Amino acid sequence: CGIVGYIGRRPAVPILVKGLKKLEYRGYDSAGVAVLDEEDGLFACKSVGKLAALEEKLGDDYARTSVGIGHTRWATHGRPSDLNAHPHQDCTGEFAVVHNGIIENYLELRDWLSEQGHRLISETDTEVLPHLVEHFYAGDLAAAVRQVLTKIRGAFALVVLSRKDPDRLVAARKDSPLVVGLGDGEFFVASDIPAVLDYTRKTYILADGEMAVVSVNGVKITDFQGNPREKEVFEVKWDA
Ligand code: GLU
Repeated sequence: CGIVGYIGRRPAVPILVKGLKKLEYRGYDSAGVAVLDEEDGLFACKSVGKLAALEEKLGDDYARTSVGIGHTRWATHGRPSDLNAHPHQDCTGEFAVVHNGIIENYLELRDWLSEQGHRLISETDTEVLPHLVEHFYAGDLAAAVRQVLTKIRGAFALVVLSRKDPDRLVAARKDSPLVVGLGDGEFFVASDIPAVLDYTRKTYILADGEMAVVSVNGVKITDFQGNPREKEVFEVKWDA
């Protein structure tokens, strides 16, 4: 239901949690974050219930990380639970995904992934995504996500984080909103503008069929085939 992503130089967790709080008005039943720690790798922390429950679980851990993704979930497939909360990861734990919307052909994809030896553990439609990214990954995270986009049907805004490509977030949208916040040496991805307004007023509003590859060096917007898209900066004039 709510998505926030951060890449920059500041500690990511407080920024992710604060951003998710700005999206609370949309409603949710569980929340989670995944962060990349240079030494310890990719970690997800998830909790059913309010963001306060997630904050308690997070404690002061993960303080060093400056890249991460967060999510508040409004369950559509699978009951609200810690396990069904996002971010979801693949078997290797190297890829994490947050997703808003519904992957309509997830049952088919689950079966296919199971045949390929993947073990899925949640009841969600979303969980196929990190497994598919892992399946298609061959050294380029954006290329893997593009392959996944050819396989999935439905509505989605999604953000992918990987230990294999630690300096970027890859985001895509179709029929579910997603914006990129443009800071100074730091960038944000969110499902709605209020989540980034504490940090920047400069945004790219992604259109259906657009992807963003976000790193500390900047943002590249393309279509789902990887062709560059010219994008105007949208400056937010109002206050949240
Ligand atoms: N369909 C996904 C789920 O049930 C995402 C729901 C959402 O948009 O929060 O986990």
